[in-house]
Amino acid sequence: MTRIERLARALEDPLLVAGPPGILSGQANVCYLCGLRSTNAALLVEPDGRATLYADFRYASRAREVEGVSFVETSRNLLSAVAERLAGRRIAFESAHLPYAGYETLASAGVEAVPTVGLVERLRAVKDEDEIRAMRRAGALSDEIFGALVEEPFAGRTERELAWWIEKSFREAGAAAVSFDTVVAAGETASSPHAVPGARIIEEGLLVTVDAGCVVDGYCSDCTRTFAVGELPARLTEIYALCLKAQLAGLAAVGPGVSGRDADAASRASIEAVGLGWAYGHGLGHGVGIEIHEGPVLRPESTDVLEPGNVVTVEPGIYLPGEAGVRIEDLVLVTEDGYERLTQFPKELVTVS
Ligand code: ZN
Ligand code: ZN
Repeated sequence: MTRIERLARALEDPLLVAGPPGILSGQANVCYLCGLRSTNAALLVEPDGRATLYADFRYASRAREVEGVSFVETSRNLLSAVAERLAGRRIAFESAHLPYAGYETLASAGVEAVPTVGLVERLRAVKDEDEIRAMRRAGALSDEIFGALVEEPFAGRTERELAWWIEKSFREAGAAAVSFDTVVAAGETASSPHAVPGARIIEEGLLVTVDAGCVVDGYCSDCTRTFAVGELPARLTEIYALCLKAQLAGLAAVGPGVSGRDADAASRASIEAVGLGWAYGHGLGHGVGIEIHEGPVLRPESTDVLEPGNVVTVEPGIYLPGEAGVRIEDLVLVTEDGYERLTQFPKELVTVS
């Protein structure tokens, strides 16, 4: 069954798919369903499985080659053109992706627009064999770059320099892109989970958090390791060990039928036991695929339940303001009986020079 057919089975009304903007994929849901990478396309999927692809001149030659859909070339003002054609019909739309102005365009043309949430995302959360192969390759390339990174000197270079080295290395090794801006955060900079690499010169005696990923065959990888630069104060070695314990507990909890909430809680126990629960302020992980953040989510308020084919991160962190930060992140595939790690780089504390 094609992806469009699987979506159609879940529909009551025709669904207009037009988002969200993804890394390299154009509109991630359109790309997922029919393979077209475009920043200005829409796909109308009918409950009976028929589908119409709309795109403007710039994407028309590729859109004509998409199998299993009928193609309609529109003006650059795509949504107005689509709205005119659908006037008088009842059409479901993706409320998380269609801007309010877009909704108004549909409504003022006389389309009865019905909001829906997550219909395509639900399918995307369970990867098929081709997607899993791409994600294994993206994970393996991450391992390769982390392996080369630890041979590089850290001390005396800036965070930004190292971040650029990582991004360049991914591209030179064949990645189509990096899956997000690389994080290299030394010392107290790392006490912010999404730190921006700056002009800070990395010194000995610090922890450096590196969070990086790449895009291979349209799919993202995501991996974090925290390294010791030279000799560390004992307290930082202890914090690292605590984070690793939490990461291993989180991993051990991952498997089919486990809720995102329970996996998250498993990773939290050891950190809370030493009174540092407050320093682990984000969730255990997130789904990864065409986009770097997608379903399912692993965090205290998650209602998701893991199933085979999900690809999620397991990434607890400990953030001590003004002092240091540690995060250790693996990308894992949920299997029939547990999980498979897609990022294999070692997690014992690695000392770089
Ligand atoms: Zn990450
Ligand atoms: Zn992540």
